[in-house]
Amino acid sequence: MEELAILGGRPVRDRKIFYGRQWVDEEDIQAVAEVLRSPYITCGPKVEEGERKLAEYTGARHAVLCSNGTAALHCACLAAGIGPGDEVITTPMTFAASANCAVYCGATPVFADIDLQTYNIDPESIRAHITPRTKAVVAVDFTGQAVKIQEIRAICDQYGLVFIEDAAHAIGTRYNGRPVGSLADMTCFSFHPVKTITSGEGGAITTNSDQLYKRLVLAHTHGITHEDSLMEGAPHEGPWYYEQISMGFNYRMTDFQAALLLSQLGKLEQFKKRRQEIVDKYNRAFQDVPGIIIQQEIPESDTCRHLYIIRLDLEKLTCTRRQFFDAMSAENVQCQIHYVPVYWFPFYEHRGYAKGLCPNAEKVYAGIMSIPLYPMLSDADTDDVIHAVKKIADYYAR
Ligand SMILES: *Cc1c(COP(=O)(O)O)cnc(C)c1O
Repeated sequence: MEELAILGGRPVRDRKIFYGRQWVDEEDIQAVAEVLRSPYITCGPKVEEGERKLAEYTGARHAVLCSNGTAALHCACLAAGIGPGDEVITTPMTFAASANCAVYCGATPVFADIDLQTYNIDPESIRAHITPRTKAVVAVDFTGQAVKIQEIRAICDQYGLVFIEDAAHAIGTRYNGRPVGSLADMTCFSFHPVKTITSGEGGAITTNSDQLYKRLVLAHTHGITHEDSLMEGAPHEGPWYYEQISMGFNYRMTDFQAALLLSQLGKLEQFKKRRQEIVDKYNRAFQDVPGIIIQQEIPESDTCRHLYIIRLDLEKLTCTRRQFFDAMSAENVQCQIHYVPVYWFPFYEHRGYAKGLCPNAEKVYAGIMSIPLYPMLSDADTDDVIHAVKKIADYYAR
């Protein structure tokens, strides 16, 4: 048996790798530099082009670029008309923003439990949490895998709920052959550097609804409009005239970020292919390793995977998750945990959310670990990751 690095053995690699990393090349840098030399560095032609290309890519009628994925979720909640007294159902297995967006609007997040195999929100648990106050569902395509869109669509239609898809992990994913972005009432994306494509900070909302689109545009730019058709007042005042017709924020993206996004969008299919290759390789390597459980996928999802998660079967191992995590780190493979159940955070705990609320999410959380997954990983890198996981699982096998 190989000696673990954490116990004084030789690490599987000398240089540390992390769970995720952006790909920014000369082409991207050129695209940004061009905008910086142009007259528009914000609210210019690249934002318009980015919105057009993102709508084209996702097959949605409209896309609105905005300053980050959290702003996208906030705009979606505003456009959905969510306000005080409303409830919004989401998953605890996500980044805090998926729930915070409801709180921004004075509404209450309600956590439905996840499926033990896919880790995505369980439509039956959504159904069980519906009350007369429920206004919307924020369903997260966790790790990039599409949620059960058809089932969630049916529930939302039955109860008159707005279906918001948090696809921060899922640009490039298809569901039954159709791109994520064209299927929910509104789909939110994030282009933070840890995500599949990046614009630095950045986000977007896509929708097929003309009405929601108008509200999204207003929400991300102060509630201000220049369009005569939307104004109540006096457009004849002159060409300078605009009106604020609703409450909104400054959530716009800049033109040089949009240029980076456009350049990245051009590489998305290539990124997806490489991510899928690595996922397939990891799945093959781990499927028969005692103590390691791999995430299951629904056949409807052709996934552009953002995160690769191994789940430790702690009954088959003599170590804790923390010991496994530290052992990986000592092998120079720096993992991360996605996610601590959102309602465990003090902010939510202080608002009365108790541990035990979503048993499946808590059970999954106890064993999960995100291992490196990004397109720049070489075959040698992925061999090292597999080596480290197998070495540690083998050492701690019961
Ligand atoms: C990253 C992320 C967000 C927030 O996106 P930002 O661009 O960082 O604001 C929202 N939801 C999920 C699931 C995310 O992973």
